[in-house]
Amino acid sequence: VPQPASDAPLHTDALIIGAGPVALFQAFELGLLDLRCHLVDALPHVGGQCAELYPHKPIYDIPGLPVVTGQELVDRLLAQIAPFAPPMHLGQLVSQVQRQDDGLWQVHTQTGQAFVTPAVILAAGAGAFLPRTLPITGLDALQPGQAGHHLPQADTLAGQPVLILGDEDLALQAAIDLAEAGNCQRVTLMHRRDQFRASASVLAAFQALRQAGRIQFVAGQPLAVQESDGLLQALSYVDTAGQTQTLACSRLLMLLGLSPKLGPIADWGLALERRQVLVNTATYETALPGLYAVGDINTYPGKRKLLLCGFHEATLAAFAVAAQRDGGKPPLLQYTTTSPKLHQLLGVAGHTRSAG
Ligand SMILES: Cc1cc2nc3c(=O)[nH]c(=O)nc-3n(C[C@H](O)[C@H](O)[C@H](O)COP(=O)(O)OP(=O)(O)OC[C@H]3O[C@@H](n4cnc5c(N)ncnc54)[C@H](O)[C@@H]3O)c2cc1C
Repeated sequence: VPQPASDAPLHTDALIIGAGPVALFQAFELGLLDLRCHLVDALPHVGGQCAELYPHKPIYDIPGLPVVTGQELVDRLLAQIAPFAPPMHLGQLVSQVQRQDDGLWQVHTQTGQAFVTPAVILAAGAGAFLPRTLPITGLDALQPGQAGHHLPQADTLAGQPVLILGDEDLALQAAIDLAEAGNCQRVTLMHRRDQFRASASVLAAFQALRQAGRIQFVAGQPLAVQESDGLLQALSYVDTAGQTQTLACSRLLMLLGLSPKLGPIADWGLALERRQVLVNTATYETALPGLYAVGDINTYPGKRKLLLCGFHEATLAAFAVAAQRDGGKPPLLQYTTTSPKLHQLLGVAGHTRSAG
């Protein structure tokens, strides 16, 4: 849920741009070094690509986790950073990053939140995930929750005639999930033609439910929503014969996919190589002091866009931010297994036991 901006700038040891998997682990590594941070993401939820693009697909190359789905990994990362409870500013695009005369960074979001910090960590993946849109008239007049670009909690759709727009996995899978849950009054999917860009297994499940009459399909181009007191009543659209039609619905899900936008990052004066930010691999600092880049957004000789590599980068970046805090002195390496200081930070001090 997007959070309201506070008037005063928030001061923090580090500001992480992005709340994808690498950003979440970054918050953990900063926490172990007693550094507080805030996270900002354009999406209304955490998890970046794992949560948005493949929540139910298995990942097989996380050390020590033989198989874990995208969403499970995100949930585990959230559990891991719980001791540090980093504030998350979701549904907010970072639009400006500026260096002040005193060397601190000032960061602004499009919704008006400001931060002041000595260290900015860019964990922005391929850029901000912004939903693709269609020019549908009247959306602004709807009350919140009547139409949206993300799947809401299933219970908020119970008893409603739901209309989904889209032709990719995201839209078809949502239609399948809602039809199988069986508590919507009706599930309709609309796309301009009866052809889809979905994976074979999703498409097969969709077509089976369609044939069973549990999902309706309408071929059409949306035009405008009709509302009464801000409550959605229907959508008008042009059918394949060019006629304007009306379809009753009380919830509209525009699941047209997301396009990552490098957007403002491209304007921040960073050295970019094929839309990626160049970093020093000892510290993951960019060419600008106090501005770091980890995960899919960075590049260096040998770079691989893998979660494991992002987690390593986040670890070294945290050490560099701690050294920056301590006047250049590298922090002591401590093990989570044996360090009473780390146990205290993790809130597990009472569980420390000696082997004997
Ligand atoms: C289908 C698929 C399968 C994959 N399978 C594997 C696998 O098996 N193993 C593996 O290691 N890797 C896999 N990957 C790659 C892995 O998902 C990425 O390496 C990883 O997600 C990168 O994490 P990240 O945190 O750097 O970026 P992301 O996950 O891309 O998250 C970046 C976040 O930053 C936000 N953001 C960007 N710019 C801004 C801004 N200006 N303001 C606010 N927010 C912003 C975005 O909205 C996004 O949420 C897979 C990827 C895909 C697409």
